[in-house]
Amino acid sequence: MSDSDSEAPCLEDLPPLMAGEAFRFGCHPEVACFNACCRDLDLELHPYDVLVLRTALGLSSTDFLERYAVTAELGETGFPVLQLAMGEGPEHLCPFVGEAGCSVYPHRPAACRSYPIARGAGLDEHDQVQERLCLVREAHCRGFEQLSQWTVQSWLEDQRLGEHTKVDDRYMSLVARHLRQHGPLPADRKLLVAVALYQVDRLPELWARRDSLAELALSPAREAAVRSDERVRLDFALDWLELTLLGDAAALQR
Ligand code: SF4
Ligand code: SF4
Repeated sequence: MSDSDSEAPCLEDLPPLMAGEAFRFGCHPEVACFNACCRDLDLELHPYDVLVLRTALGLSSTDFLERYAVTAELGETGFPVLQLAMGEGPEHLCPFVGEAGCSVYPHRPAACRSYPIARGAGLDEHDQVQERLCLVREAHCRGFEQLSQWTVQSWLEDQRLGEHTKVDDRYMSLVARHLRQHGPLPADRKLLVAVALYQVDRLPELWARRDSLAELALSPAREAAVRSDERVRLDFALDWLELTLLGDAAALQR
């Protein structure tokens, strides 16, 4: 998760991109370095990335995590984060890169979509999300020699990052508020958070065992949506974590 309570370290040395500031960039098969960067990456997989990717691949979350993810923790917060597991060969290729490019292109993770823009986010004193956006210019990337011109807004819209960012900010906010109120995530909560965020297909089974969903007395329409639509379920899982970890029931009243 690049979003955090403080700015991502990689952003500290880069000047922020201002609204409306233009840059040139293009990434396509005609660029000389095409595919060159899809290897040996520390590529974060966020909760919405996992849902989108595993749905596209037709995998259960258990199979997806086993094949494609490495689990870690977000610094000293104790909260779980995932990275895409790179190949074991000498080049450590991304498991999704091929001669023709990215085999999961319409479903690629947020980090691949947003590049060359990096985003850091945190909460201000009123618990409102503040973001910082920077342009990451890497010497090997020839995309900056292309003629297509973008602003931050047009690039992020083109890359359809809206839902990714919404879920990322909710998770960042949960982590930041938990740290402030209770400190790092206790060991006995780690599995719960990991399942809620990265294995939403397992949540109905978990809820059934504890009869948790019934206790929340959701409206029939909302409960039906949570049960039938995994994107709604991920959003609800964040509500549920806010209630379970922070005692904040407000989100459940929507
Ligand atoms: S997911 Fe696709 S775009 Fe991202 S690193 Fe892998 S091959 Fe490249
Ligand atoms: S190095 Fe830049 S232009 Fe080349 S494939 Fe990667 S993102 Fe695209």
